[in-house]
Amino acid sequence: MDDSEVDRVIYQRYLKKSREYDYHFIEAETGKAALEIYPNVLPDLVLLDYFLPDINGLEWIERWQQKYNKNPCPVIILTGQGNDNIAEQFIKLGAADYLIKDQITSDRLNFSVYKELIRQEEKQKFTQTIQCQNEQLLEVNRLLKDQMNCGENADCLLRNNEEKLHCAVFNAPIPVLVHAEDGEILHVNQTWTELSGYTIEDIPTTAEWTQKAYGNKQGTVKSWIDRLYELNQRVDEGEFKIRTADGQVRIWNFSSAPLGKLLDGRRLVISCAKDVTEIKQAKMALQESEIHFRKTFEQAAVGMAHVAPNGKWLLVNQKLCQIVGYSQEELREKTFQEMTHPDDVEPDLEYVRQILAGEITSYSMEKRYIRKDKSPVWVTLTVSLFKSKTGEPEYFICVIEDINERKNIELSQQQALKRLANLHQIDKAIIEAQKPQAIAKIAINNIQYFLPACQRASIVTFNSEHRAATILGTQGRAEQKTPKKLETTLDIWQDLINRLQESEQNYVVAYLSQLPKLSAAIPSLATSGLDCFICFSLKAQNKLLGIFKLWVEDVEVVTPEQLAIIEEISVQVAIAIQQANLIQADQNYALNLEKKVQERTAQIEEINKELKAFSYSISHDLKAPLRAIQGFAVALQEDYAENLDDLGQEYASRLVASAEQMEKLIQDLLAYSRLSRTEIHKKPVNLTSVVNKALEDLEIAMTDVQPEITIEKPLLNVLGNRTILQQIVNNLLSNALKFTSAKVKPQIHIWTEEYPENFVRLWIEDKGIGIEAQHQERIFEVFERLHGNEAYPGTGIGLAIVKKGVERLGGRLGVKSEVNRGSRFWVELPGVEG
Ligand code: ADP
Repeated sequence: MDDSEVDRVIYQRYLKKSREYDYHFIEAETGKAALEIYPNVLPDLVLLDYFLPDINGLEWIERWQQKYNKNPCPVIILTGQGNDNIAEQFIKLGAADYLIKDQITSDRLNFSVYKELIRQEEKQKFTQTIQCQNEQLLEVNRLLKDQMNCGENADCLLRNNEEKLHCAVFNAPIPVLVHAEDGEILHVNQTWTELSGYTIEDIPTTAEWTQKAYGNKQGTVKSWIDRLYELNQRVDEGEFKIRTADGQVRIWNFSSAPLGKLLDGRRLVISCAKDVTEIKQAKMALQESEIHFRKTFEQAAVGMAHVAPNGKWLLVNQKLCQIVGYSQEELREKTFQEMTHPDDVEPDLEYVRQILAGEITSYSMEKRYIRKDKSPVWVTLTVSLFKSKTGEPEYFICVIEDINERKNIELSQQQALKRLANLHQIDKAIIEAQKPQAIAKIAINNIQYFLPACQRASIVTFNSEHRAATILGTQGRAEQKTPKKLETTLDIWQDLINRLQESEQNYVVAYLSQLPKLSAAIPSLATSGLDCFICFSLKAQNKLLGIFKLWVEDVEVVTPEQLAIIEEISVQVAIAIQQANLIQADQNYALNLEKKVQERTAQIEEINKELKAFSYSISHDLKAPLRAIQGFAVALQEDYAENLDDLGQEYASRLVASAEQMEKLIQDLLAYSRLSRTEIHKKPVNLTSVVNKALEDLEIAMTDVQPEITIEKPLLNVLGNRTILQQIVNNLLSNALKFTSAKVKPQIHIWTEEYPENFVRLWIEDKGIGIEAQHQERIFEVFERLHGNEAYPGTGIGLAIVKKGVERLGGRLGVKSEVNRGSRFWVELPGVEG
């Protein structure tokens, strides 16, 4: 009988393997169907599924028994669930065996069925034997009566019948004993003596038997046996433990029946037994394994439970009770939903929905239960669903692991990380702030996060040089009564400063009531109603820059961790304030410096202007007397030549030459001075034409020497000023002509080259006397000459004009020269684009 067709097929397959029997099966799917089958077909054994769709196994057996008075055949219960309670009820109802479906194997089922069938067979045989013996006895009785009536043959017949009875009893396959009410054992069969090990001589009486087989229980058993003689029908006495001759303990299941009276009137009883030791042991082993399972469940180190699909706790173990603080009974009254933290109910129910819908087969989640004491406890819950044979959800199998400690550590770590991130942000903001007041504001505004108990916070900085202090900012209770920035004397803070300096820590706990100077100087402090504050020092490079005051109602609530964090913030604040002070000092210094530079520049410009005006006016004003000297010297030569002797004429011509030299000098000076002053307009200039013009200008100077001049034409154009360029080229060219040994013909080479960044370089090369390396720089300065006026006349201003001119056109210049091999002057000027 099983509602699962698969199970029915499996059990039949198992049983078909039997070597002892060839089974024939009658199947029923429901309890009702099974009850109806019975009267038509008489089975030898019933395999009954505990959970039938219409009725459970216990009810089925009860109905069966009601209908047919007793179990017409043995019943073996098959159940999906091991439960002591049910097992016990079955046994009470006379079920032959009780098998857990998961543990059923072919051998196990065959053994159980075989054993029951054998027992049944033996029972039947025994009953038949008894009946047969009864009939024989009745027959004997009848014959005896007849013979007693008939006379002489009676003794003989009786003996004959007794022998038959003796023979039947003696050969029975089960232990059989015939005993009389006075305790005499009349017959002991072979099976009895074989199984018990006692010979017929060992047990002449029931007293001997009970003494040997039952030891100290013999009294009870003996009086039980004595009552058997009152029987008028067969009785199943149940199981008894007997001790065999070789000391083993075996379990015999006894039944006895009255056997009439002996001739002498003693009542007889026949007792049969069945050795059930092995069956019993198998049952005990099964029970043990169930107990073992139960112990494992009960004593598991993790919480375990069976939960109904509606959330009710069905079965809970001890560990789960410990985790949630409820007893097993209390838990069975509750559902998991009502014990789950409100935030975790939804996610859990979603999983339940998925598992019931068959979308998942199991799930695992971290969640919180609310303990009986209302505190939350973190667990890891792993759930799978147990389904019935028909696929209906029966219950959830839950494993619950207490992870509260780990979770709390994790959460506090997360909190610490968050705090660290905040701290980092504040640090960053503090360091980025530029002004002390802004720094103080950031620190004060954020302190509440780290110290929720803080009622009021303020930062004060000190200026020991001026014996002054500044309250940079305040926030919190009675804050509006304090101006934003308040200057005070340093004296009122001195007590605190002293205490901080004496303290080994970076903070002290102080009370306003113990600081009379401070409370007198800032009476508004008292309006906050606070007395206690923690005063952190703001120190940078070991210098006390100020203090960070945090007012609290009760200093006891401040944790060491909070103190450490605020200390950290104080360090940042101190560094930032010092930095801000340094930046301020730097800015002041730079401003000063800039002012000074501007002043100096103006002074220098003024001097320059004066100098230029001076040199211009000097050179200009010198021209008039020079012209007079020249005029009169020439007049002297021309008009009074005959009045002058040779020496006089010589003096006159020297006078003229000196005046000419001076005129040249004045001209050059004027040109130089003009170069500095005039405004320059740049435009493209054709260098070839400039060089041609210079050669024209120098024609007279060249007539005597006949120089060899090569020009690599066309020369490149430059961006410049024609007048200035002409001055530059004229001076360089005249020097190239001039500074050549008198014995050789001057050779001059002129060319241009393109240079990077759109510059053009003009080269003027001579093969003249050259310039020593150490003088090559200074010759570009005013009045720097390397030769006497006799050897090489000149003013020493030419190259200075070249340098000034090139600079004003935004170019560069230089010389490469070797003594006696010639010089190469170069001038680099911006080229013409395109
Ligand atoms: P000046 O030519 O009037 O002496 P400059 O300023 O033109 O003055 O030249 C300065 C000095 O540089 C010259 O006196 C001379 O000693 C030297 N110098 C200039 N050009 C050359 C040259 N091409 N070869 C050799 N020496 C030169």
